[in-house]
Amino acid sequence: MVQGVGFRPFLVRLARQWGMTGWVANSTRGAVFEVQGPPPRLGQFLAALRSQLPSLADCHDVQMTARLPPVPAEVGFAIRPSMAAAQARPCVPPDLAPCAECVRELFDPHNRRFRYPFLSCTACGPRFSILFRLPFDRDNTSLADFPMCPACAAEYADENDRRFHAQTIACPACGPRLSLLAASGRVLAHEEDALRRAEQAVLAGQIVALKGLGGFQLVVDARDESAVRRLRQRKHREAKPFALLVRDLGMASELCFVNGAEAQALASPQTPIVILERRGAAEVAPSVAPDLPWLGLMLPATPLHHLLADDLGIPLVATSGNRSEEPLCYADADALRRLGDIADVFLTHDRPIVRPLDDSVVQVVAGRRMVLRRARGFVPQAICCRMPKDAPALLAVGGHLKNSVAVTIHDQVLLSQHLGDLDTWAARQGMERAVADLEQLFGVKPQGIICDAHPDYAPTVWAEQQAERRRVPLLRVQHHQAHVYACMAEHGLQGPVLGVAWDGTGYGDDGTIWGGEFFVVEGTTCRRIGHLLPFPLVGGDQAARQAWRSALGMLWVARGEEAQRADLIAAGIPEGTQVLELLRRGCSTVWTSSMGRLFDGVASLLGLCHTSRFEGEAAMRLQAAAQTVIDTEGERPYPFTISAEGVVDWRPLLQGLLQDRQQPAVAAARFHATLVEMVVSLAKRTATKTVVLAGGCFQNRLLLRSLIGRLAAEGVEVYWPQAVPTNDGGLSLGQLVAALRPQAASEDEACAWRCRVGS
Ligand code: ZN
Ligand code: ZN
Ligand code: FE
Repeated sequence: MVQGVGFRPFLVRLARQWGMTGWVANSTRGAVFEVQGPPPRLGQFLAALRSQLPSLADCHDVQMTARLPPVPAEVGFAIRPSMAAAQARPCVPPDLAPCAECVRELFDPHNRRFRYPFLSCTACGPRFSILFRLPFDRDNTSLADFPMCPACAAEYADENDRRFHAQTIACPACGPRLSLLAASGRVLAHEEDALRRAEQAVLAGQIVALKGLGGFQLVVDARDESAVRRLRQRKHREAKPFALLVRDLGMASELCFVNGAEAQALASPQTPIVILERRGAAEVAPSVAPDLPWLGLMLPATPLHHLLADDLGIPLVATSGNRSEEPLCYADADALRRLGDIADVFLTHDRPIVRPLDDSVVQVVAGRRMVLRRARGFVPQAICCRMPKDAPALLAVGGHLKNSVAVTIHDQVLLSQHLGDLDTWAARQGMERAVADLEQLFGVKPQGIICDAHPDYAPTVWAEQQAERRRVPLLRVQHHQAHVYACMAEHGLQGPVLGVAWDGTGYGDDGTIWGGEFFVVEGTTCRRIGHLLPFPLVGGDQAARQAWRSALGMLWVARGEEAQRADLIAAGIPEGTQVLELLRRGCSTVWTSSMGRLFDGVASLLGLCHTSRFEGEAAMRLQAAAQTVIDTEGERPYPFTISAEGVVDWRPLLQGLLQDRQQPAVAAARFHATLVEMVVSLAKRTATKTVVLAGGCFQNRLLLRSLIGRLAAEGVEVYWPQAVPTNDGGLSLGQLVAALRPQAASEDEACAWRCRVGS
């Protein structure tokens, strides 16, 4: 990553310092430079180059060739025009929050950029969100239409200025400007006046659509219950928590408990949303995150957010600018059309956003940052994982929910930004655009396409059509194997490992729905060595929302008919007794070994949540209940058994759980403790020294933290996804890895596929 990070200016200064001559230029695959000088100093120069790289630069590889004979009478070290290379490489940084120096200028009344919402420098500012094509030169970005004024041009050309060759340089005289629009599109105000009036609107309880870095956000006063409620109604978002924008770490600590690693994540240049435990006294409207003990907070990601958060001095809801289930708005006209009946005013500007990028979401577990939603601030940084040097160009299209796509570029993997759930046509269009974008930006021509094994996933259907149209082979990869492979790739693991894939639902090799799976990955094989005892779900897709359907299925397997009815009534699920009839007849029933559904069922049986208002709510409420127990991790596990075939029987667990029903929090904590022991038992049985945890269930911090501690105490090395989402957002990476892994000759489909893509 040597573009848009001040690499060329750095090199000019370094060359001067060591008395070297030559030149440097950006290219579509990185940077090219030539240096000339006496050999001993040349060595010192190269050593200094490696050790003093700008903090944001990330050097993947340095290749050197000797150029003889020397250029006669060369003077100085120049920045030459950019050049094209045959094959592009991911060398552009993600968008970066304002650096400390720029923030100081922003609030300095004597600076010529005082309160200018678009200031940036070589170390910060918009990057990927404004990039049309490589390399990262001003003319290739949406700043191309803003010619520099003389003052900016002078800074740009001055070697000693910190904006020397800053491609995003701008000031009030020459750069983008703010405007405030009414929902009708009528211009109400410009610049400082626009900002002040938007701030007044927020304080008056109105909803402001704000053009952020990667798209529009909807902003309201987070303390104002009626404003937050109105936002929920208009956005059609019933209960899914809203993220908050806070001014600084101080305000974050007033609302939530923030440890060192969490503070670091909040204040990082990516400025992601960080999920934190909330303080009881936090002054936030109840509708921000109903019934949940945590909040998602983020610090300002742009100078505009800094001004807004600082002027107002209150926590602000800052949620993505879309109606629920629809893609993010990022163009003004589209925002006015689609958000016109949600927002009261629009605070926008004239610098176009080239591609939509949602706010990223992270959490910290065991001192490590875990990326749960990977977009703004992280993309397009390549994922560090060892791919074969001669890997063919491949495209993986991911899963149906929390979709991301990925391509291989030589030995690197480029994972797209979070593209959301693909239930709507608009969202599927977004995915297709993202694929075209990656292919075009990096000049990739995939020689094969990889998709999930689920026949009805939107990306699978698309991949089937594309493979035929492009005449390239298609490979299907089992969902939970992809989860495990993604985590192994991130940590550079080859196996043998015990892979624990726990998530909502995924298509299994036997046509049932999997999701509570254990694999041993060893050499060329990935064997399923264990899974939860399956139970039936009535009503297919409805079951994911209606936790009580999972409860019903579990009771069906575990209890006699009389007990079933009694339990359903005791749990407050009287409607379940009618559905029992459907089960008896086997109507519209699927069988599942999903851990996510087991969580749902338990949450329902404990009376914590019968119907999820957003994905994963029941499981979150179960986790939240368990966390209220003082010594959660000290709770006794419930009994369970594991058969010789690896079937993990949870019926004894259920028995114990129902007896504890009067104390749901204790039961929830004991349930978590039981799951930990299940993994420990299988690790012992398989005698594996390395365990890999993957899948959506490991977003549960309590479960993950307990497992990490318990496995470490058993002398087992444990790995979990950190750079790549543990949920389905990481599937595309796992699909690529599966396709490139050497596999057993018996796997006909994979083998034939490999021959055709020629790897
Ligand atoms: Zn800066
Ligand atoms: Zn200027
Ligand atoms: Fe999954």
